Amino acid sequence: MELLQEKIRQEGIVLNDNVLKVDSFINHQMDPVLMKEIGEEFARLFQSKNITKVLTIESSGIAPAIMTALELGVPSIFARKRKSLTLTNDLYTAEVYSFTKKETNEITVSKKYLHEGDNVLIIDDFLANGQAAIGLAEIVELAGANVSGIGILIEKSFQPGADKIRSKGYHLESLARVKSLQEKKVEFLEEQTV
Ligand code: 5GP
Repeated sequence: MELLQEKIRQEGIVLNDNVLKVDSFINHQMDPVLMKEIGEEFARLFQSKNITKVLTIESSGIAPAIMTALELGVPSIFARKRKSLTLTNDLYTAEVYSFTKKETNEITVSKKYLHEGDNVLIIDDFLANGQAAIGLAEIVELAGANVSGIGILIEKSFQPGADKIRSKGYHLESLARVKSLQEKKVEFLEEQTV
């Protein structure tokens, strides 16, 4: 997606060989025009999948997820992150190791909002090792629902998440695919024209 690549080129800050900071348009300040276009693009990419829910994880996935859900005309749910508690009867839970915070969180979704037969589109801002997306997929499967697609804004293709997700047979679409962050430069896997 050209607009996203352009924003990354102009405003992305390469912290080190593994981490890209996009605080000015995704992770702190948010660009609503970009988010709207991202929602339209995911809705187009997954239009044939009869999506019934869009699922993300708090907090940076919420904006693109809600714009996608608006386009698809379905509800959007965000999984909550929390420390382990014992009362989980009414919750689906999965463990997710955070790439940026280096800690394990339990992520939870209320059983009220995901049901057997739902066709769920998972959305997240970044894909690194795939922990967040795979944790969300586990929750979908615990509910007896279908993982109908995974939509990522920025895939760091040099890290293992994308291959892990594809090898599990999930339909993955990433709007920007970063090949390398070496030498403080963002290099994309392919120049996209969308
Ligand atoms: P994963 O679970 O795939 O290992 O990592 C994805 C999660 O970690 C995303 O939800 C995102 O919040 C965070 N993340 C991973 N890599 C980056 C990065 O380079 N920059 C930022 N800002 N967040 C990242």
